Amino acid sequence: MQAETSKFFVNGKWTAGSSTETFELINPATGDVIRRVPRATKDDVREAVEVGRRAFEATSWRDMEQTKRGKLLMQIAALMRQNFDELAKLETLNQGKPIRESKGDVAWTIRAFEYWAGAADKIEGETIPVTPNRLTYTLREPIGVTAHIIPWNYPLALAARSIAPALAAGNTIVAKPAELTPLTLLKIAEYAQKSGCPNGVLNVITGSGSVAGRELVSNLGIDGITFTGSTETGQQIMETAAKNVTPVLLELGGKNPNIVFPDADFQKAVQMAKYAIFTNAGQMCWAGSRLFLHNEIYEKFLTELKNQTELIKIGLGQDEKTELGPLVSKDQQERVLNYIKSGSEDGARLVTGGTVPEEQTLRKGYFLKPTIFTDVTTTMKIGCEEIFGPVLTVFKFKSVEEVVQMANDTKFGLYAGVWTNDLKVSQRLVNQLQAGVVAVNDYLVAYPQTPFGGYKDSGIGYESGLQAISHYTRIKSVTVNAS
Ligand code: NDP
Repeated sequence: MQAETSKFFVNGKWTAGSSTETFELINPATGDVIRRVPRATKDDVREAVEVGRRAFEATSWRDMEQTKRGKLLMQIAALMRQNFDELAKLETLNQGKPIRESKGDVAWTIRAFEYWAGAADKIEGETIPVTPNRLTYTLREPIGVTAHIIPWNYPLALAARSIAPALAAGNTIVAKPAELTPLTLLKIAEYAQKSGCPNGVLNVITGSGSVAGRELVSNLGIDGITFTGSTETGQQIMETAAKNVTPVLLELGGKNPNIVFPDADFQKAVQMAKYAIFTNAGQMCWAGSRLFLHNEIYEKFLTELKNQTELIKIGLGQDEKTELGPLVSKDQQERVLNYIKSGSEDGARLVTGGTVPEEQTLRKGYFLKPTIFTDVTTTMKIGCEEIFGPVLTVFKFKSVEEVVQMANDTKFGLYAGVWTNDLKVSQRLVNQLQAGVVAVNDYLVAYPQTPFGGYKDSGIGYESGLQAISHYTRIKSVTVNAS
């Protein structure tokens, strides 16, 4: 049966764009073609940016009463809630992740829209004392047309993370989902239209990073860029943006330490170490991909972790019992298998996993067994590069000083986990770890209201939390002479 062809969304209309070229979307669990999507050309992108510009200049959106804009965002959230199961199933179909994770992502996305709906009429300026006869104050204005380049690991949640604050602030948007996973973002466009979002305010184009993405971030009509993805692509985007003096918000990779001390809650720490790396098949910038175990608990912890890892249920994402789904694509599966090969060649010890599962039902999908390596050093590729797959590297440490040094010995600095009940130890680590987010006795926690951003090569700026609004607004300083 021929797969249905979707359209993309510009100026309030569904369009196939100017080219007849389409690309296939694949269900990563089965290898089946699920849909075809138009491949936007440079001209399509240019048109979408012009549409966004006109919608911004028309002022009906940017000058809309802020409370009203908030209500509109709330309505988008309500439509998502009404279509909760459909959205979760679509995310799993397109991205592969287990349905229970997709449901978590949909719930997070709804909360993000609600958070920014509530924040829309709290985007405020300040009054600044200067001289008695002058009133000086600041206004926070939307920046204009914002570009959003969305990755394939959390297609819905990461789109919401940047689109909701940009809309709340009164910007107009051109968003490009990853070529592999555009379906749920196209749904947000549909809900925005149904909620009464004016034409041209939210435009979603489908296409490749190398053509549509490149054109979008280099277009002179773009006033701000938000990108989540690899450090390499982030660097390219920043170079392009520098030429146009366009502000960028970059959320890039991670090689995050998850550190366990002997006094931690043992069972909880084991369970969360597993969850921190095998959720979303490890395809997470914030994955706990480097596990640091104190030497007093090293053997016991590793044995328990190996046992629990071997019980993980690998399967098709739509099955409620599945704990580990496929990787997003054949390319990603091969990329991760190459890392596994390099780990073994470089002398790391494979504790478990490392191969594709043998079950007949999983043969056509892009599955990988959950994998653990020990005897890893930071000079090995698997010890220092972001693998973005279900591969855990384990290290041993003896003291706080040593683990701080080892944890910070990376070009990344996005997220860190610390497991101890000793407040002095956790405080020292919180202060000394070079990571934008630290979780103590926890992992994979991020709320729409908490800032998320990285040190070093992990990015620039903050997503989520009220701080994010600084990327989507500019400050105008006004002085009124009353004398
Ligand atoms: P990329 O960083 O290349 O892709 C992320 C997004 O950027 C996609 O929407 C992509 O579009 C787009 N893109 C690619 N090139 C350009 C460009 N020149 N200009 C504008 N947009 C562009 O990551 P990959 O998908 O290639 O994955 C490779 C690795 O990147 C992963 O293994 C992982 O290590 C890392 N990654 C990190 C993520 C994170 O959350 N930090 C998310 C995704 C990947 P398209 O896909 O359509 O080409």
